[in-house]
Amino acid sequence: MKIPEQELARRRARHLYRERLVLDSAPGAEVRVDGATLLSFCSNDYLGLADHPDVVAAFRAGAERYGVGAGASHLVSGHGRAHHALEEELADFAGTERALLFSTGYMANLGVASALMERHDVIFEDRLNHASLIDAARLTRAKVSRYPHADAARLAEMLAPVRKPGLIMTDAVFSMDGDMAPLAELVRLAAKHGMRLLADDAHGIGVLGKNGRGSFEHLGMTPAPPTILMATLGKAFGVFGAFVAGEAALIETLIQRARTYIYTTALPPAVAEATRASLRIVRAEGWRREHLRALVARFRAGAEKLGLALMDSATPIQPVIFVESDKALEASRRLREHGILVPAIRPPTVPEGSARLRVTFSAAHQEAQVDRLLEALAGVKRA
Ligand SMILES: *Cc1c(COP(=O)(O)O)cnc(C)c1O
Repeated sequence: MKIPEQELARRRARHLYRERLVLDSAPGAEVRVDGATLLSFCSNDYLGLADHPDVVAAFRAGAERYGVGAGASHLVSGHGRAHHALEEELADFAGTERALLFSTGYMANLGVASALMERHDVIFEDRLNHASLIDAARLTRAKVSRYPHADAARLAEMLAPVRKPGLIMTDAVFSMDGDMAPLAELVRLAAKHGMRLLADDAHGIGVLGKNGRGSFEHLGMTPAPPTILMATLGKAFGVFGAFVAGEAALIETLIQRARTYIYTTALPPAVAEATRASLRIVRAEGWRREHLRALVARFRAGAEKLGLALMDSATPIQPVIFVESDKALEASRRLREHGILVPAIRPPTVPEGSARLRVTFSAAHQEAQVDRLLEALAGVKRA
């Protein structure tokens, strides 16, 4: 058992102590913290929709109409017209037969794995998967193996002798590195071995693909069986919640069996209404994605000139590697002195020796703000 005082002292000594910021504003390009206005490169509100007037208005109208709480779980009496309409719109957007809302992405991943996996089944997952997929695997009684990051060839070797039902799980866009999973190969391997593939597109949905349909659209694919798509609504959609998209029988099985769906209160219907407004903008306003891509390209070109250690990422997640936790923390502190907010990400969120600044961009940013970040990073690098 952890003794709280000792645990905290140990964390401080290793530069792993985490502290929360208190924001006095929406999570926009600029945020208010401790009475100061800071330029923020931390949020996952990739399209700048969290405070969009249409989304806020839909939220307000939803609350006026349905109240602020769902009042019950989906299977009791919490499943409202707003949830139902959103599910149909999300299925249409994803290009699948059906979609099912979950209260969070974390719960969606737990729900899918635990609903489908039985004792003696097998799970294979990418070593750098998000914590929610790691915990999802642990919650099942299946045998869990991890394969080296994005290494479909190694996974193929690991799968070769396996004759059991199984699930392959991967982030589609990796949350701390910003790179992508080899989805086409993973789909092929899952099909070949009679397994399912759970692809978590928390960071791709809304952002990638011409129409914002995410990583699959980006790669010219659609999420059909064996694929199960999970995507979140708290990032590019700017709201809250998550959905799983797939064939009708899969969705119906989740309704019957996914404990994180059944034994929890439904999302507030007003959140579903806000998400419907957000989905309309995601679909209609391709300029947000184009602007975002241009910002990322501008940052990468500038950062390469500065000789910063970037990763192979074409997404709005652009880590700058500092190796040691104290170096990353110091860089984050110096940027803060320049009025810029970028978090230092340390183990165990990322592997030992890969502490980093995790820079994220949003369509709410302007080019001049990217330039300000680059200037500040040049100063941090010299120091
Ligand atoms: C954020 C995230 C989740 C969790 O989604 P929430 O809705 O915030 O619980 C799951 N997977 C990945 C890859 C994420 O980045």
